[in-house]
Amino acid sequence: MNYPISRRFLSVRLMIMILASALLSVLPANSQEAPPMPTTDPGLSQDDDAYMNRQADAFLKEVNSVLLAVPPQYPEPDNRRLALRLLDAVLHDIYAPNRVPLQNFYHERMERVAAELESTQVQEGGAIWKMYNHGFIVRTASVTLAFDVHRGASRFRVDDPQQGRTAVQCPGFPMPDSWAERIARQCDVLFISHKHGDHADPAVAQAFLALGKPVVAPVDVFEGNELQAKVTHLERIAHEKQTLHVKDGSLELSLVVYPGQQYQGEGTLNNVVLVFTPEGMSFAHNGDEINDPYPDYQEDFKWIDAVHEHHKVDVLMTNCWSNDILRQTRGFDPKLVLPGHQNELGHPIWDRVPYWGDAEQLKLNLFDLPDAGYPLVVMTWGETYRYSPKAE
Ligand SMILES: [Zn+2]
Repeated sequence: MNYPISRRFLSVRLMIMILASALLSVLPANSQEAPPMPTTDPGLSQDDDAYMNRQADAFLKEVNSVLLAVPPQYPEPDNRRLALRLLDAVLHDIYAPNRVPLQNFYHERMERVAAELESTQVQEGGAIWKMYNHGFIVRTASVTLAFDVHRGASRFRVDDPQQGRTAVQCPGFPMPDSWAERIARQCDVLFISHKHGDHADPAVAQAFLALGKPVVAPVDVFEGNELQAKVTHLERIAHEKQTLHVKDGSLELSLVVYPGQQYQGEGTLNNVVLVFTPEGMSFAHNGDEINDPYPDYQEDFKWIDAVHEHHKVDVLMTNCWSNDILRQTRGFDPKLVLPGHQNELGHPIWDRVPYWGDAEQLKLNLFDLPDAGYPLVVMTWGETYRYSPKAE
């Protein structure tokens, strides 16, 4: 009695199986497999996101070949300027730090710095490497100085109109700690301008300290971290020369630590150091020196305006977005200006500050420097400029 029902049931089941397998055969293969990989930019489809990776790869290869062929120089050749602006375009994709082509581009350049430091001896003048953000390394015949050297952003800010401000992790972007250690081994001292996370990198500081090399910073850098007590806190006094022993005490370095601030409504201590090398050259690095709102607040211009009356400055490494950089530069009166802090990837798009400047919006006068007689050499990650006091 049950037999026919059971047969009917079996045939219905068979039909369902046949229909299901027919349906699966017309669906894309991946619907039978694992769910799709998340895109780097969560607002893009798989295809669009993959295109953005291919475009980053193609543009960065183009940038690389131009920059290798046309190294940093003054005046800036047109093709070099175009390459830097193409780099701006790649770096203003907010998700760029998580794109593998950019990570490869950055890592290759940082590894090259480590290798060059290990193989480069300077006979005359100075060799200057541009690192991430506002990081620079200066080598003369007798000493190697590191300023605000950083492994690179490990997260970045996204301002989403719907979801508000979020922090996105990018663990694949920073250079490995082992390269920071290689670089620290090649330097004699690290100067950290101020406490902010895009300048003060605990892993880099730790690498210097572990090798017995001094790290000089304002007193509040690494607050709450055991590193703070190991940092050298020099007095912040305008124009007054102090000494710092480097190379296990065998070299006495002369320097001024200007009492700067990142003053944007309230002040963060920001060391502006001017270091004199035994060869008679001097290198200034201004960290995130800014007096804002300007011109209402300009406390630091009391000493900035007068630097040149007290000291001869060869090279000024200035952040690119400070206000009235022309006036700051006239205060230091250097032979050469190297702008830094372009394309800080931890910042949102509008505040990454591109090589093209966005000067009108940000009220900057950086690009007025050449007309005022100050050579401006724009560099990007891992590039070197050879400074010769005779040639400038
Ligand atoms: Zn900064």
